[in-house]
Amino acid sequence: MEKIKMTTPLVEMDGDEMTRILWKMIKDELLLPFIELNTEYYDLGLEYRNATDDQVTIDSAKATKKYGVAVKCATITPNAARMKEYTLKEMWKSPNGTIRAILDGTVFRAPIIVKGIEPCVKNWTKPITIARHAYGDVYKGTEMKIPGAGKAEIVFTGEDGTQIKELIHEFNGEGIVQGMHNLNGSIESFARSCFNYALDTKQDLWFATKDTISKKYDHTFKDIFQEIFDKEYTEKFEAAGITYFYTLIDDAVARVMKSEGGYIWACKNYDGDVMSDMVSSAFGSLAMMTSVLVSPDGNYEYEAAHGTVQRHYYKHLKGEETSTNSVATIYAWTGALRKRGELDGNKQLMEFADKLEKATIATIENGTMTKDLALITTLDNVNVVNSQDFIVAIRKTLEGML
Ligand code: NAP
Ligand code: MG
Repeated sequence: MEKIKMTTPLVEMDGDEMTRILWKMIKDELLLPFIELNTEYYDLGLEYRNATDDQVTIDSAKATKKYGVAVKCATITPNAARMKEYTLKEMWKSPNGTIRAILDGTVFRAPIIVKGIEPCVKNWTKPITIARHAYGDVYKGTEMKIPGAGKAEIVFTGEDGTQIKELIHEFNGEGIVQGMHNLNGSIESFARSCFNYALDTKQDLWFATKDTISKKYDHTFKDIFQEIFDKEYTEKFEAAGITYFYTLIDDAVARVMKSEGGYIWACKNYDGDVMSDMVSSAFGSLAMMTSVLVSPDGNYEYEAAHGTVQRHYYKHLKGEETSTNSVATIYAWTGALRKRGELDGNKQLMEFADKLEKATIATIENGTMTKDLALITTLDNVNVVNSQDFIVAIRKTLEGML
């Protein structure tokens, strides 16, 4: 078979630990035999980030802006223990944070659904995609403990010195206060990323806040979404046969539980943090979640939703067998290849991505899976395999389909 050609390079961001091992296996077994893989390679493994003073992370994000599509392996976010382990010059920032700041995007997370791994919520037959706003609110809040009786106020001082003041509370005794902010520009980017992603994936978009209680803060989110939708997206949504739906956050939660799924649920920063963990655990496993960062000007970075699976890596280093699930990392590649194909009008590449996903699902549904899935599956007579054999089994299924 002739290998599929690629016209534009994909930005490849390699990573750390067990996922770095899976990365190579996926390339060797599932991609290189079938595609003339054209990537611009950036090594985001912690050692090279440290060697380049993290410049490689910045360069990889800039390359994503240049080419439009990236695929990223999970990476270590250094903490005190990692400083020692890797003798780091500095506690480098989270690569995802750095990339997100440069691309200014929204993260979309969706479960990969297979028969035999059933969601806890039995009516969820289609995936629910969470879109989390990744800027501001309580994550950039300022807090204060109030020591005793007195008046707490919020004050804004304009550049010309004019002040706007609001009373928070007249305290009779001890208490607490919190100030937080967001930016209209960031909310606008968030809205556009959500509308574009809904069009891309042909799914309805839901958005919810608590605007009845938060009449200025949350209401601004609601208004910005509505204005942008009315001005720029009404006709596009109609043409695509999808809808935009706004409701209160508590109403949204009740509706989500009773729904069959199949839509994007846009959440403010805190709601997205909490709800994405609820949705992903209800669907089964972090190893079965895709994650894509979409920027408002249309750049895409695909990754797995889980980390570097450190515990498995240490077993691997000791020569012990591991059974690490590579599905989310395979889907990071298929997502990126399909998007690259779409942007370049490369149908063969898009079809290959579809087939690789089908082969992955079929392999699991036919009973071959890694240990994490074997523990939760409803299938009988499961064939539990190690990390490498799982990928080899997918290759066999794929070859049968090509
Ligand atoms: P993790 O890599 O997500 O793994 C936590 C546990 O979840 C594993 O020990 C394993 O459970 C299970 N698990 C996760 N992914 C799995 C997979 N693909 N197959 C099978 N089991 C899987 O989180 P962590 O070990 O707490 O974090 C390790 C490193 O990842 C940290 O340095 C952190 O900074 C980084 N991280 C990176 C990203 C990212 O790049 N996007 C995201 C999160 C964390 P068992 O051990 O019980 O089998
Ligand atoms: Mg969380």
